[in-house]
Amino acid sequence: MKDRVRIMDGKATAALVRAEVAEDVARIVERGVRPGLAVVLVGDDPASEVYVRNKDRAATEAGIAVRTLRPEATISQPDLEALVRELGADGSVHGILVQLPLPAQLDPAGVVEAIDPRKDVDGLHPRNVAALAMDLPGLVPCTPAGCIELCDRYGIELAGRHAVVVGRSQLVGKPVAQLLLARNATVTICHSRTADLAGVVGTGDVIVAAVGRAGLIRGEWIRPGACVLDVGINRGADGKLCGDVEFGAASARAGAITPVPGGVGPMTIAMLLKNTARAAEAALDAVASPGRTTGAGI
Ligand code: NAP
Repeated sequence: MKDRVRIMDGKATAALVRAEVAEDVARIVERGVRPGLAVVLVGDDPASEVYVRNKDRAATEAGIAVRTLRPEATISQPDLEALVRELGADGSVHGILVQLPLPAQLDPAGVVEAIDPRKDVDGLHPRNVAALAMDLPGLVPCTPAGCIELCDRYGIELAGRHAVVVGRSQLVGKPVAQLLLARNATVTICHSRTADLAGVVGTGDVIVAAVGRAGLIRGEWIRPGACVLDVGINRGADGKLCGDVEFGAASARAGAITPVPGGVGPMTIAMLLKNTARAAEAALDAVASPGRTTGAGI
């Protein structure tokens, strides 16, 4: 008989990470600086409001000073980029997060490029994207980093295993594939043009689902004993939140699986706080030893 599936509890794991970040923040404060996070929320998208409120609360609890800037939805591209550059020059700000999506008239790539890469706690600036691709130190996107952190905390072996990533977005699919590769997994990336998705998923020891389609990954596809990380956040037909994986049927086959909600989601915020503390520490180290690469390497 198959061993019982392990439910990877992202809520509890995120609470552990957040408590560790609070200790790091206290150490940084002892060095005379309180880590600061600036969140830029353009317009009044209700879903973004909820995300920003949760980030604000978690950061404040960890001892990080949070400032939320709320430019009007009609702000121009140059004005938004100027605002982000101002935050880059502000010594009390160590992390800058521009909540996406932006209103349609704005180009997110241009805004992200205006962020000082040392403060780019979402890890989306081309310099950080390049650093990840080149195995150089940098700030790593929070959701992919959260997936790896969950694997580490649950003792999931990655080296030598076949990891199948479904989704190839800049935000999740590509960076998580690179992080898995850096951990010596053998990585396959699937997308909307993949032929025989079921067959490829079925060969995975580790599956990362990052698509945004409820129940796309069928339980019967999962290789017995595989670890399933479900990044998707969807509304099911019953109106409830659900992931990209058919949770019940997949749990009957998987060795370990993340629920939605309460899996990868809470880890994202925890990793945002961790990135902010790292960026603040790197800024302090840079002042202490100008010209040297800091411990955080950023
Ligand atoms: P995205 O930018 O829309 O990318 C979706 C990816 O899925 C694309 O690469 C797309 O392929 C692929 N895809 C679409 N239909 C497919 C199919 N039938 N078979 C295989 N692949 C398919 O989405 P994202 O930003 O990566 O987000 C993915 C999901 O994760 C969403 O539900 C989002 O809400 C959630 N999310 C959660 C967190 C969290 O904190 N838990 C954070 C970020 C995102 P193509 O490239 O070929 O179009």
